[in-house]
Amino acid sequence: MPLQPARTVDELRELQTLTGDEAGAQRVAWTDTWEKAREWLGGRLAGVAVEEEIDEAGNQWFTLRGRSERALLIGGHIDSVPNGGWLDGALNLLAGVEVLRRIAEQGEPPLTVRLVNWADEEGARFGRSLFGSSAACGSMRDQDELRRLEDRDGVPLPDALAAHGVDLDRATEARRQLETAAAYLELHIEQGPVLESLGLPLGAVLGTFGVERHRITWRGQAAHAGSTPMDKRRDALAGAAKLALEIRQIAKRTGDGAVCTCWAVVCRPGIPTSVVETAEQILDQRHLDAARLAGMLEKARRASERFAEEESIEVSWERIWGIQPIHFHPELIDLCDEAIREVAGMSHRLPSGPLHDAAEVARAGIPTVMLFVQSLRGLSHTKLEDTQPEHIELSVQALDRLASKTLAWLASR
Ligand SMILES: [Zn+2]
Repeated sequence: MPLQPARTVDELRELQTLTGDEAGAQRVAWTDTWEKAREWLGGRLAGVAVEEEIDEAGNQWFTLRGRSERALLIGGHIDSVPNGGWLDGALNLLAGVEVLRRIAEQGEPPLTVRLVNWADEEGARFGRSLFGSSAACGSMRDQDELRRLEDRDGVPLPDALAAHGVDLDRATEARRQLETAAAYLELHIEQGPVLESLGLPLGAVLGTFGVERHRITWRGQAAHAGSTPMDKRRDALAGAAKLALEIRQIAKRTGDGAVCTCWAVVCRPGIPTSVVETAEQILDQRHLDAARLAGMLEKARRASERFAEEESIEVSWERIWGIQPIHFHPELIDLCDEAIREVAGMSHRLPSGPLHDAAEVARAGIPTVMLFVQSLRGLSHTKLEDTQPEHIELSVQALDRLASKTLAWLASR
């Protein structure tokens, strides 16, 4: 039977009915609903000659054996945030199911093809994203930190994992899954407004943004709000406010998708009768190019020093998190572009602002590419998340073409 992209739309709706409610998708990882979704996913491949396995990190694998052990991986995640959308993570898997069905129908493939449902991509319950993929890809090194994580009800992460058959101490043994991996493909909703604004259904993803996240502390002098004249104030909030506006210009001048966000501004003493003595803010900067990301950071630092001088206050910076930009494989990006043009006429190359499991796989040195399908109104992580059914069908076709092209590419290497 040939590919049936309309079946993917029907199955996504079925999953939504099974694991969602009026508020949205409720497939939070390490819950009964998530478990139910995993079982249901396994049922979609009943009758297809795949072997199912759950690894040490809770990742669910479906393996269609080929003539070679070398494997093409297609990935996604069935977990959602609370009150999430119907497509985030699940589209990837159900499109992958359809591709596996099509390949299996044609007999033994030249290479092994594996569909992976990564465990806990969202990190919605314990605040740790990309759990399963980081365990399998080798970047999970903070076992002690993980052991201390608790959910809102005080349940420790190791206990929640154990309830679903996962031993945190053994999670990194999932690495053996990647020993035969030759390439990795991931289809995802864009979760942003770019493709919709261009009027295009699909895009080839260049990589994921690098991130620089800093806590900036401004120190002035608390003084009575009634008796201190404006020109005698050392107002810490003035520095934070100036910087919050300046980063817009910095992002604009840097261009090529640069984004800067200020948030979490905390003022002390925080009473109406005092000028702000300390203001703390967090700055998040993202770019696909490492040098330009470093340049944006440098510009923000220099601007902050200028503002500190203008306002007679002090400023200090502390790095709280960061990740290098991750570039997907150039030849796979070309194949992805080609596949998109064949099914949709036009393609577009764009970076990804959010991180994805694909970033973990690429970091592990496996040739990787992602394919984005348009998100309506750019919304995600809400029940309003949506994509036109005809675009979902196009994305299944493009993933299928990309899988065929990648298999041919791998066979020639
Ligand atoms: Zn996702």
